[in-house]
Amino acid sequence: MSDVQTAADVRALRDATPRAATEVGVIVRAILGAMRITLRNLFRKPVTVHYPDSQRAYPDRYRGLLALTYDKETGEEACIGCRLCEYVCPPAVIKVEMLKAEKRNYAKTFTLELYACEFCELCVQVCPTDAIVMTKSFDLSTTDRRELLLDKDRLHALGKQFEQSWATGNKLRDMQGPPKMARAEHAAKEEAAGA
Ligand code: SF4
Ligand code: SF4
Repeated sequence: MSDVQTAADVRALRDATPRAATEVGVIVRAILGAMRITLRNLFRKPVTVHYPDSQRAYPDRYRGLLALTYDKETGEEACIGCRLCEYVCPPAVIKVEMLKAEKRNYAKTFTLELYACEFCELCVQVCPTDAIVMTKSFDLSTTDRRELLLDKDRLHALGKQFEQSWATGNKLRDMQGPPKMARAEHAAKEEAAGA
């Protein structure tokens, strides 16, 4: 081995040593960081909810299962069979037949194919009688799609079983118009201008 080769090897070794030390430092820091996170989570309270034994509380505006309601004052079915929800539904999963009666109309049949529903809430928004609503639950899992074809009776049963979400057609439509005060002021101004 020549003197020139030996000197080059020594220089290469001298250059490599700080680089190797830096890389080892990076690895050690990464391991310590990961261990710190592991230790911190080891003593943390678990956040997993053991569904269905325990259920989490859903927010008021949760868009869960759809349901039909009864009129709070009369106890009658709230749906008047107007079919607005059927017309507005983007994937066309609602089918309603109207039953004409003397004092008011009813839904003779009402079906909703929940397996194709987009949970867009448009049907709720257009309903004039707050008859169709969303509930704070998704608890209808099944392996049989036929069970997700909901008829009028099942939709009413869901309305009784699960807590209703905040939204109703009337509340949602109220949010879209100008505030009531502003409307009243506007009417007063118009009246004053006309006088
Ligand atoms: S939530 Fe939307 S997709 Fe589902 S039934 Fe109502 S309108 Fe149709
Ligand atoms: S649920 Fe509402 S929008 Fe749909 S048919 Fe009944 S009253 Fe009309």
